[in-house]
Amino acid sequence: MAQAIPLFVIANIAIAQPIYELLAKNPAFLAAKIGGAGDILLFAAILSFLIPGFFVLLAKSISALSVAAGRWFQLGFIAIFTAVCALIFLKGQMPAIWAILLSGVVGVLFSVLLARFASVRFAINCLTPFIFIIPLVFLTSSNIRQFISPNHQAEIPTLAQSPPYNPIIFLVFDELPATFLMDQNREINRGLFPNFAKLADRSTWYRNTVTVSPSTEESVPAILTGCYPIKGASPDWHSYPRNLFTLLESQYQLNVFQSVTNFIPNLPAGTNGDTPIAVRMLAILKDTAAIYLNVITPPEYTGSIPAVNQTWGDFWGSKGEKEEKRLHRFHEFLNAIARSHRPTLNFAHVLLPHDPMEYLPSGKRYQDAPLSGWGYSREGGGRWINDEWVTIASEHQYLLQMQFVDRLLGELLAKLDQTGMFDSAVILITSDHGIAFWPGESNRKPEKYNRQDIEHALFLLKLPFQHSGQIRDDSVKTIDILPTIMDGLKIKTAWQFQGKSVLNSSETQSMASLQKVDVRAPTFQRRLKVFGSVKSLPSISPLPEDEAIGKNVSEIPIDKGPKVEVRLLDPRQFLAVDLSSPMIPAMVAGYVKTNSSGKMLIAIAVNKIIRAVTYSLLSARREMRFAALVPEDSFVQGDNTIDILVKQDGRSEYLQSNVH
Ligand SMILES: [Zn+2]
Repeated sequence: MAQAIPLFVIANIAIAQPIYELLAKNPAFLAAKIGGAGDILLFAAILSFLIPGFFVLLAKSISALSVAAGRWFQLGFIAIFTAVCALIFLKGQMPAIWAILLSGVVGVLFSVLLARFASVRFAINCLTPFIFIIPLVFLTSSNIRQFISPNHQAEIPTLAQSPPYNPIIFLVFDELPATFLMDQNREINRGLFPNFAKLADRSTWYRNTVTVSPSTEESVPAILTGCYPIKGASPDWHSYPRNLFTLLESQYQLNVFQSVTNFIPNLPAGTNGDTPIAVRMLAILKDTAAIYLNVITPPEYTGSIPAVNQTWGDFWGSKGEKEEKRLHRFHEFLNAIARSHRPTLNFAHVLLPHDPMEYLPSGKRYQDAPLSGWGYSREGGGRWINDEWVTIASEHQYLLQMQFVDRLLGELLAKLDQTGMFDSAVILITSDHGIAFWPGESNRKPEKYNRQDIEHALFLLKLPFQHSGQIRDDSVKTIDILPTIMDGLKIKTAWQFQGKSVLNSSETQSMASLQKVDVRAPTFQRRLKVFGSVKSLPSISPLPEDEAIGKNVSEIPIDKGPKVEVRLLDPRQFLAVDLSSPMIPAMVAGYVKTNSSGKMLIAIAVNKIIRAVTYSLLSARREMRFAALVPEDSFVQGDNTIDILVKQDGRSEYLQSNVH
């Protein structure tokens, strides 16, 4: 068993070390999952000792049967782990296939040298202390030691308030721009968002509220603490011991459904106090495995492994499951709301109407979001390509999803009416930041045109027994939200907030603020022009208008030229459509085979009736793509046919196509 120690050491370097390195840089991943010191120590023990130890023990058991087989097994795994180390270093520096081949050669060469030369084994044995040093460096790194340190017990605040405590209903939507709710008079567009308007009629709308950060990990903590976020801190109770929940937990029963933050001591997000440590640890390890796969996989192949940069966990869930999860979180929150003799704080942070765009106003889901997926430039980071049509079509999808959010708000209002809690409750509906759709600009990083849509957040507040609506133009920041609720509830605390209550601020003084929503802004004007004049949003993509829509394919004048080849993305979804299912194939997308690189007009027919017309888009991979929403009622139960007509640049008539 001469190779037992080298195997243990190399497995540590190949598996534990890269994971530790990544997690120490991104503590938010652990923050949302770690319950306390026990969890993080167990996690490190599994990575550093249990997993490498497993391979050593396996080799030992094989040796017991056949010494030669055990030896080959050990050398084989040493070769694999060495190759993985080499691959982490080489990937991205050369084509994937070369990186993999070269790493393989390095791995084999190393294990041959190790088997041959005692001096190599001696050198590796000298690295044994690293088995302990690697986890120690991780556990004591500045971002991780907070999970262990006993100094970070949440402080118990002293509250001075006399009963009765009014129930609190506090809902944080994610990525909801307040500007998208507005009509040309900066009032809530009643036609599109009837439930937001209904609540605004009975509450105070602070319509010039701006976020203090466009990043969720910073903006949600700002809302929950009344203070500016700490740069680089993980959004958990270790970093933010003074927050809404620790402030009220001695007096209020907490019904809290967090999505990204972990602000209640020893209660990770998405769990309750009864979740056993084994279940929590399994979830952490599953997500860690997804992260590890992303660390070792060359960029060319990452498409086939779970993405870890779009959510804060549950990486292995199918896309559909993840979507259901965010809706599930909302319904858990809704179900938990009940009249109680104890004062309750009902809180939810729901990842809606956040990207991806998948909901129609009715709540039916369509698969994937090809337009938004294709519409981002190659640089990544959510920068739109320089194409007006793509940003308009994506904004249309987003507005439809916001109409679904309006429907959810309607469910909440109905529940509050039903339980008779509406009148006495403090109701607070807010968003952490917005999003923008402007050609060539980022969707979340404030730049020249997109700033207003990203920075303006929603802040609707109904105080106990408030009956009339009010719109205020005070200059409000999201850090003012918590001090304002405390003021409204007449709860006094010695804690200092960086924000201030805006309940009694002087409006005239702050009206001069530059943060007032500007309806003349190009983004606002474009939205009004494309969507603003209608009571309801068109169920199809709004442009281009074409006389073909609504006609039968046989009525359309067709060019006699050769047929064009069209490949649909996921053509099977149009067969055996079940109208009672929560999914509807309303997004029709595909590729056109063509040599031209100019824009084409694509008419989409469902069951022979033209239901949408869209523009094609030349992708970064030089493929001519198209995608458009068709109305839900285009489909029949069972099999549906899709026809695509294509109009080349400068032609007046459509060409027929063979659709695959
Ligand atoms: Zn957010």
